[in-house]
Amino acid sequence: NEFVKVEFSKGALRTKTVEDILTPLKDCFMLPSTAVLDFNTMSEIMQSGYTRVPVYEEERSNIVEILYVKDLALVDPEDRTPMTTITKFYNHPLHFHLFSVFTGNSHLAIVQKVNNEGEGDPFYEVLGLVTLEDVIEEIIKSE
Ligand code: ATP
Ligand code: ATP
Repeated sequence: NEFVKVEFSKGALRTKTVEDILTPLKDCFMLPSTAVLDFNTMSEIMQSGYTRVPVYEEERSNIVEILYVKDLALVDPEDRTPMTTITKFYNHPLHFHLFSVFTGNSHLAIVQKVNNEGEGDPFYEVLGLVTLEDVIEEIIKSE
């Protein structure tokens, strides 16, 4: 694995990559931008237990916005508010990390790598998401 993202040291240098600690895309709880914030969707979000929900367009690898559970505080499920009304209103910055150290100024980052395997042009491949929690957990584990 050629890219080093997070380094933890304790005596001998240990190296972990973000890839080792991220939550893979297939396991991420996400919603499509076409979602409607009705009772079912809002219940699903609450039951997921996550604070931040990536919102994607067309396919899961195309994350375009991020919904915070606290954005739902003033949303009435009866209004069936389109997801994009809320995400456009709050417009939280979306952080993408590529082969770089997880800086910790964002609580959640989408992790990408350059995929240059195969025939076609290289493209950014979304691997998953990583949060401060993942990094802290890794530090505690290595103690
Ligand atoms: P908070 O603790 O700030 O309420 P949270 O519980 O939603 O947030 P974190 O504590 O940051 O999330 O992360 C806990 C674990 O859940 C981490 O492993 C992280 O990668 C993962 N995680 C966070 N958000 C999602 C999500 N939307 N889908 C799947 N996994 C997620
Ligand atoms: P999040 O970042 O998960 O949205 P938050 O911004 O409400 O949560 P934290 O990021 O956990 O809160 O904390 C930021 C700072 O705000 C910390 O110094 C914390 O002690 C303080 N803080 C959190 N909640 C409150 C509150 N209700 N009243 C006053 N200070 C608070």
